[in-house]
Amino acid sequence: MPATAPLRAIRAAASAASPRRGRSESSTDDATRRIADAIVAAIVERRLMPGTKLAEQKIADIFRVSRTLVRQALNQLSRDQLVTLERGRGARVARPSVDEARQVFEVRRVLEAAMIRRAAHELTGPQVKELRAHLKAEQAAVGRLDISGRTRLLADFHVVIAGMLGNQVLAAMLSELVSRSSLIALMYQSADSAGHSLDEHVAIVDAVEQRDARTAARLMAAHLAHVEEDLRLDFRSTGPTAARPTTALQPAAAFA
Ligand SMILES: [Zn+2]
Repeated sequence: MPATAPLRAIRAAASAASPRRGRSESSTDDATRRIADAIVAAIVERRLMPGTKLAEQKIADIFRVSRTLVRQALNQLSRDQLVTLERGRGARVARPSVDEARQVFEVRRVLEAAMIRRAAHELTGPQVKELRAHLKAEQAAVGRLDISGRTRLLADFHVVIAGMLGNQVLAAMLSELVSRSSLIALMYQSADSAGHSLDEHVAIVDAVEQRDARTAARLMAAHLAHVEEDLRLDFRSTGPTAARPTTALQPAAAFA
């Protein structure tokens, strides 16, 4: 990959990310969040690969902010395990290990089975409609082979449900876990599972709409198990280095 490509990815995400309070936003927190969001978006949309160097100065130039703000954003991403900071060597997009991948999915299975059970009991009619609209958008993105769009939408499905339940802690945790899952998929995914994921999302929403909490929980657990099965996590001895760049760049593969 040419050296400029990762920066193009961040720049694209930067211009796509709409400021939440208009263009006049200027507070430090907003700027830090905007940078972090753009990097996460580039990761989730598969435009920024594991191990890619994140040069502070270049990112600062893209966002026209100080390096201090960029460093804050990178620190935040490092706490979320999305970025690795090495003294003297700067920041890189993280390269999750096989163990980490398994742990992320273990936590997601527990969290999301409980989450979807609650969703089946508590989501309102309009919220279920909103989920259906989300599925339509997923379907449209899959149909027009919009890799970035569909990857983001498939991942967002899980975070959207958490947000609907009104639990900010759950939504934040899931958002982090889903972003980490995206990195894991970039490193280990071997097959195209986008269509597969979409069908499973539809079945989950069907169960939620029918207020069938047990089935919804079972389907969610099965869905996450399938996503994990699609990963090549069996190369324990070689670890993350077993993932080849060509695998990471395969546009067919999509997570979530
Ligand atoms: Zn999914």
